[in-house]
Amino acid sequence: MECPSCALEAPDEAETCPYCGYEFPRQKKSVMLMAVVMALLLAWPLIKLIQLLTD
Ligand SMILES: [Zn+2]
Repeated sequence: MECPSCALEAPDEAETCPYCGYEFPRQKKSVMLMAVVMALLLAWPLIKLIQLLTD
């Protein structure tokens, strides 16, 4: 893939550009996904507790 910062060809699997150090945004997506999964895992017991309290 082409680096949007320096326009050189970087390996597709690279997380950062080996030439200029540009951080490809693809990695941030997986971090975001992990954060959403973690938030759901943390929220699930709270949802269950609220359901128990409101029954
Ligand atoms: Zn670059």
